[in-house]
Amino acid sequence: MADHDLHGSGGMSLPVRTRDEGDDEGPPTSGLVDHGEPSESLAAHEGRLEDGMLLRDFEERTTFYDAVAELQMTQTEAKLFYQRSRNGNSPWPQATPFESPLIFAGSRPATEYGADSLVLDPDGETPDAVDASFRPFGSANPFSPTHLHKPSPNASCILNDAKVANDPSAGLAGSAFLDTEPHITAELSAISKQIHRIVDTRRRYIAISSQGPNDNPRDTPEWEIYPPPPEPAWVSSHGHGSDETGKQGGGSSTDATGPKRPVRRRKSGHRIGDDFDLDDLLPLPDASEMTFELDSEGIYQVFDSPASRTPAIRVPTIREFYMDLEEIVRVSSDGPSKSFAFRRLQYLEGKFNLYALLNEYQETADSKKVPHRDFYNVRKVDTHVHHSACMNQKHLLRFIKSKMKKSPNEVVLFRDGKHLTLAEVFASINLTAYDLSIDTLDMHAHIDSFHRFDKFNLKYNPIGESRLRTIFLKTDNFMHGRYLADITKEVIADLESSKYQMVEWRISVYGKSIDEWDKLAAWVVDNKLFSHNVRWLVQIPRLYDVYKASGLMDTFEQVVRNIFQPLFEATRDPSRHPKLHVFLQRVIGFDSVDDESKIERRLFKKFPVPRAWNTTQNPPYSYWIYFLYANMTSLNHFRRSRGFNTFVLRPHCGEAGDSEHLAVAALCCHSISHGLLLRKVPLLQYVFYLEQIGIAMSPLSNNALFLAYERNPFHQYFKRGLNVSLSTDDPLQFAFTKEPLIEEYAVAAQIYKLSPVDMCELAKNSVKQSGYERSIKQQWLGQDFEKPGKDGNNVAKTNVPDRREEFRYHTLLQERDILNRYSAYGAGSETASNAPRGIEAAERKDSNKSLPLAAAATGPKEADAGGHAGSFFDSHAAEPLLPAGSTAGNHITGSDPMIFPGILAREHRNSSSRNLASGG
Ligand SMILES: [Zn+2]
Repeated sequence: MADHDLHGSGGMSLPVRTRDEGDDEGPPTSGLVDHGEPSESLAAHEGRLEDGMLLRDFEERTTFYDAVAELQMTQTEAKLFYQRSRNGNSPWPQATPFESPLIFAGSRPATEYGADSLVLDPDGETPDAVDASFRPFGSANPFSPTHLHKPSPNASCILNDAKVANDPSAGLAGSAFLDTEPHITAELSAISKQIHRIVDTRRRYIAISSQGPNDNPRDTPEWEIYPPPPEPAWVSSHGHGSDETGKQGGGSSTDATGPKRPVRRRKSGHRIGDDFDLDDLLPLPDASEMTFELDSEGIYQVFDSPASRTPAIRVPTIREFYMDLEEIVRVSSDGPSKSFAFRRLQYLEGKFNLYALLNEYQETADSKKVPHRDFYNVRKVDTHVHHSACMNQKHLLRFIKSKMKKSPNEVVLFRDGKHLTLAEVFASINLTAYDLSIDTLDMHAHIDSFHRFDKFNLKYNPIGESRLRTIFLKTDNFMHGRYLADITKEVIADLESSKYQMVEWRISVYGKSIDEWDKLAAWVVDNKLFSHNVRWLVQIPRLYDVYKASGLMDTFEQVVRNIFQPLFEATRDPSRHPKLHVFLQRVIGFDSVDDESKIERRLFKKFPVPRAWNTTQNPPYSYWIYFLYANMTSLNHFRRSRGFNTFVLRPHCGEAGDSEHLAVAALCCHSISHGLLLRKVPLLQYVFYLEQIGIAMSPLSNNALFLAYERNPFHQYFKRGLNVSLSTDDPLQFAFTKEPLIEEYAVAAQIYKLSPVDMCELAKNSVKQSGYERSIKQQWLGQDFEKPGKDGNNVAKTNVPDRREEFRYHTLLQERDILNRYSAYGAGSETASNAPRGIEAAERKDSNKSLPLAAAATGPKEADAGGHAGSFFDSHAAEPLLPAGSTAGNHITGSDPMIFPGILAREHRNSSSRNLASGG
């Protein structure tokens, strides 16, 4: 279950926590179910607690699953539906109008299905509250295209159709379902609060580390992109009113205010780098007053002045980090919470399926109406691709052959005290240019280790291709990576001529020596590898154990120092690292790479600080990420105060290994790559959904390494509304065609039967997830792309119909609304007393705990939503999506049904069957 899809685990028992006993195939059951026990005696349990029995001695009273009631249900439901049909009511009430008397009386339909209309009206006004947003079908045929065009403009005509809802004794809102269920309410409330708390913790961490949407100075309108992006091909005079935002290219227009520079223009795809000149960027900013220092905990602290001894930003300590992480792991493995999240996710998936059925026709029509735009000319960003594997094999082969032909006598390698020319290298491995083929190149080799190209690079392997790799695919070799720069330029030229494909290349800094950053920056700057289509992420392989074993270093602290010291120096005084300063302007953030499926043993109860980490064992994933996070937090604060661009954390995560990695990401990472294991941790998946944490997925790469294509959860995530994008990972190993990203989309479209609208939505996601400057994103997606729903959608640019955006947005709103209401419910009521398993008690205890973190944090301020539960905020707009207080007041009263779709509690079933028995 947990193991069989981990490639290469070889039957070893991996420390995968089996948090999801149910796997994908069924809902995880939470707790024991005693089939033999009659239901009457269950109720009696509550009174017997005093006899010295522990709570765990009873059957766990969960909201979600109950085998006994399950059996009764079949009969009960059948009777219910029969009864209703006899009364002349439709058993399928499609709508409960929002303004019906029933709602005003303080009730709600028993399930949300009744209130949802999945047909969205793009022409109607945007409703403010979620409840007003769903236009009911009425009794009109929902499949009728005319109805889709013209939904009923007011609620009165719907009222006539919806007799069911007007009669409180019938329909799904019937009194049989209206029982209040204190312990269920308390449990749902406790679960919602736990989820709230995870989300709040995450937001705090993201805000402190300046990873939020408005934290990066690069996203301000004044930020100048150098070299500037190409002018938009279609200017505002071109007719289509909405396609004008191209002129908002930030610093792109030549008459922008700012330093006067010679205008260097080049044609896309030609003379790569000609528009870049380091002299244009001089003089560099002056040195700063602020200072920095590596403290004894392995974290760089920044100080406002040399005299100051108080850090300018208080970074969460490793203890706080592990406590918060522990909390997330605990909640994500808690049975009832898991079941809850699983149900919600299933509901979301079903809702999308229904939406797709009802709106497919109209969506197609919508996107046909858009002039000029189709899937091929919407912007797509390859959100996860390793630079050293960014070209396809054919390309690499062609390049090697041409070098052998053109410059066989060039000295390319210094080995064993000898300089070797290219011809000599090939002679030494017994190959001629003629022999070379894709097969001899053999780049598909070693499936188990190939994913980590970096590690592969490290190992000296005396067979020929290792040398070729050193010569052709490394930035730091005898020729200072000139060949790699040449082929990179060719790849850039291809990208630029395709125009709509962008990449975020990951390039390695190992932390082996202090000058790596400068070498890397010099490689990029000297070779002028600057393109509008390219941004960089720096990937840090987790290879401390390798360095330690080879005697390269004594403690983990050296890794921290090698990675971060140059960055702080360059931030404090750019003139000390001029090229690094320039390169960093094109760097988005940090990635962390290595084989996640490696066993992580917890050697210590308390992890030692980096200075004391001197064992030969590699620190675990969470430890690596923590020190990346903590130091990046300081660095970002420093850079932000100087007006330099800040960084985000976008590690590889959840490809294999322990699902704790995903908890780490949920805690402190901007977004992740892969995320396959989210399918086994429903609660975290749900949190990823609620917070719309980006996931760059690569099903083709997964297919080769970890998970068969048809089992890949990509499509499921997409349907559920997670923020997913498609990426190539390693085109050199996995792609067959010249356009790897299109290949990725194409295969996904074929296998999953994605519609053009789906593909455009994925492309849009990829742009939004990416680290491109805001001005560029505005050029690609529209001026208001950050607004949710159709307000932020510019269909002329994205080719995603407004109705799709509205559906996604309102579904998310509704989901957040539900959690808000349940959290708020427990706050002021009496229900805590019989909460199962002490969740509520633990909840109370924890809720007062709050970390007094950095004062500089500028994230969304939390509001008090009628108690100790925070309310959800729109992460885009830093204002409440729905003030929990307002909706809670309207809809949650002591007598309201506390029912989720698909969830029926034992008491409901019992009482309804009793009612039936007595009534019929
Ligand atoms: Zn990767």
